Amino acid sequence: MCQPSSLVDIQATIVQIQPISADVSILSLDCPAIATNAKPGNFLNIKVNSATQPLLRRPFSIHNVRGVIVDIMVKSIGIGTALLCNKPAESTVMVLGPLGNNFDLTSKPFHTAVLVSGGIGTAPMLFLEQTLAEHGKTVINLVGGRTKNDLLTQNLTNCHSATNDGSAGFNGTVIDLLAHKLPEFQTAKGNIKIFACGPPQMLKALAQFCHQHHLMCDLSLESMMGCGIGICYGCSVTLHSQYGATKNILLCREGPVIDAESFL
Ligand SMILES: Cc1cc2nc3c(=O)[nH]c(=O)nc-3n(C[C@H](O)[C@H](O)[C@H](O)COP(=O)(O)OP(=O)(O)OC[C@H]3O[C@@H](n4cnc5c(N)ncnc54)[C@H](O)[C@@H]3O)c2cc1C
Repeated sequence: MCQPSSLVDIQATIVQIQPISADVSILSLDCPAIATNAKPGNFLNIKVNSATQPLLRRPFSIHNVRGVIVDIMVKSIGIGTALLCNKPAESTVMVLGPLGNNFDLTSKPFHTAVLVSGGIGTAPMLFLEQTLAEHGKTVINLVGGRTKNDLLTQNLTNCHSATNDGSAGFNGTVIDLLAHKLPEFQTAKGNIKIFACGPPQMLKALAQFCHQHHLMCDLSLESMMGCGIGICYGCSVTLHSQYGATKNILLCREGPVIDAESFL
């Protein structure tokens, strides 16, 4: 988890907004204090408007860190994300971060990282891929979407895609693609670890798949969230222990990254 001492709430300038599809843009924020302390899996909680609509901040994964710049990848689905994507360049927003825990790159050894993402769940993968490469890991990206228009593969390396309608890449879900590729990945040396982000149904299915195949897996959940700092209890999620007991966590504080074994 991020150290409270590294948490800042700062006014950040949006230095660039780059549309990459009909409804997704990459926003580049000048925020050195966050760039310095960010880890893959962390998120930002952004006040998209100085007015009271929307009142609550909106959470976004850290897509990339480039020097003092933090990039986020935003899909416009409602009032807050539309406001953000339509900001003029050089405008400012209040940014709270870095928040949440991070993907676990160190506690158990692995050689190959398979990054499995669906839709806007691809957002945290670029920063993760780059950090894994710095740790000397082999990285493979599997990116899924309903159609080819939903694939967000920009800047990712060693990338295979899948679409539900077969309009690009493998014909099927990204988990079908993982099942198809797994024997090939397993011939490589060392353990595999899966890192994933995407819609809840996809992550549930992936948790089952990893359990059946005895694969280590971290999932990043993007459920609804309120304050982002554990005060409003708006992001409570029920997880399972290995002994069948359940426990509730606040996704903003004890997530968004969880062990897939707790999400079966
Ligand atoms: C930890 C975390 C990281 C995230 N990272 C990203 C990211 O990198 N890029 C990105 O584009 N989005 C990300 N999201 C989702 C993003 O926060 C929501 O899309 C955003 O808050 C919606 O705000 P809005 O005002 O546009 O939508 P609203 O106007 O509030 O809602 C519009 C519609 O979207 C639904 N909705 C709102 N939030 C979510 C959600 N989290 N999941 C599913 N449906 C939702 C509402 O129920 C409603 O039907 C993340 C969420 C979390 C919790």
